[in-house]
Amino acid sequence: MPSTDRHTIIIGGGVIGVCCAYYLAKRGARVTVLERDQVGKAASFGNAGSITPDHPPINKPGRVRQALKSLFHPLNPLYVAPKPDPALARWLWIFSRTCTERHLEHAMAALTPLGKTTRRLFDELIENEKLKCYFRGDGYYEVYLTERGWESAREEAAMVSRFGFHPEVISGGALREREPALNDGVAGGVFHPEAASVNPYQFVLEMAQRSESHGAQFLTGSEVTALRAGGEVWSVETRSGEVLESTSVVLAGGAYSVPLLRKLGIDFPLQPAKGYHRDCTPAAGGPELLRHACVLGENMVFCTPMDGFVRFAGTLEFSGVNHEIRRPRLEQITKASARYLNTAANAVIQSEWCGLRPCLPDGLPAVGPLARFPGLFVATGHAMMGLTLGPVTGKLAAECLLDGQPSLDISAFRPDRF
Ligand SMILES: Cc1cc2nc3c(=O)[nH]c(=O)nc-3n(C[C@H](O)[C@H](O)[C@H](O)COP(=O)(O)OP(=O)(O)OC[C@H]3O[C@@H](n4cnc5c(N)ncnc54)[C@H](O)[C@@H]3O)c2cc1C
Repeated sequence: MPSTDRHTIIIGGGVIGVCCAYYLAKRGARVTVLERDQVGKAASFGNAGSITPDHPPINKPGRVRQALKSLFHPLNPLYVAPKPDPALARWLWIFSRTCTERHLEHAMAALTPLGKTTRRLFDELIENEKLKCYFRGDGYYEVYLTERGWESAREEAAMVSRFGFHPEVISGGALREREPALNDGVAGGVFHPEAASVNPYQFVLEMAQRSESHGAQFLTGSEVTALRAGGEVWSVETRSGEVLESTSVVLAGGAYSVPLLRKLGIDFPLQPAKGYHRDCTPAAGGPELLRHACVLGENMVFCTPMDGFVRFAGTLEFSGVNHEIRRPRLEQITKASARYLNTAANAVIQSEWCGLRPCLPDGLPAVGPLARFPGLFVATGHAMMGLTLGPVTGKLAAECLLDGQPSLDISAFRPDRF
């Protein structure tokens, strides 16, 4: 089939779907994005905005013990709701089996080329497409109150250094010189110079606009309810009964991707992991809240200065697909910031939000074709790395669909690996 006759339908207008649209359309492919709501309004809207190329997956030795403890502590940053749910039980079983040194090495080896490429792609996008998304390429600080926490961060820094990243171990005093908002309780931390940050919603909107200018079409309010393969043509049905045809389909539905795959007979072990944010500004006349992006290590709270506010984001709550804001969990984000920042009392809450990260149990995303269904490309499961890995995922999807093979090894991300 001539490439001009080829048409790709992308399901989902989050950061992953929009990045796929951009890289396909930029290469001249015909692209239609179907988004059931509005572009960028799900998980991609309110995340911490951090681009973290050296971030390891949460699957690490010791995590199982931590997760088990959290069953009984609903305010723990990592929380698993204790309820009978066979899909969650299967997820936890695979998760527990992959919390090993060996798997961590495998995951880092697989993710590192994507992390390095995506960081370069962000620079290219900002430079060439002049994206207005409050991009800052000045890294972030991971900070700890306890010697034990700092020690585990130093171990992790040594581990990621072996993969060619350059984390810098810093004492509490030196941290306070660089970031005056950190209080005397901070024992030490690690600086991640390869990291960057953006306003994530602005990034998605800008990428959608650039995709459109390269010819991509966005249909919002279009929920895909069924997918059917027939020879070289896919039929994609929406809730209004409309049927669109395409030669390929990219499934980028984030945490909501499971029902469509189930209709194709695929048991995909994806679980939503809810996270929250609070956006804050300083009280009138008060000092600025924070100069640099920081992670409050023991509490897993990301604090990112954006355009005119600081976003405090965190928690990982496995409680199924729901958008209920559990206030005590949200409060934990504010309480944590008061333990690390001497400016916390000066923070005025401007908005609150929750969103669902799409998480696979081995901590790796699913990026690749499904062998049983030619023309179907899965791009989801990016967990806490979806913004970070958006550009490289889009580039890889375009390479697979237009060239037949990707420029990076994506075998570890096969969607049918479970
Ligand atoms: C609190 C929090 C902090 C985070 N911080 C970071 C961070 O600092 N850095 C980072 O890299 N990542 C971070 N993440 C993770 C990141 O937000 C996600 O990995 C990423 O947004 C996932 O993008 P996505 O496009 O796959 O999913 P989404 O953004 O959820 O988009 C999926 C889209 O698909 C649409 N859709 C679903 N099903 C259908 C259908 N059947 N038909 C049509 N449309 C459909 C949905 O409406 C939605 O718009 C964070 C997440 C949270 C919750």
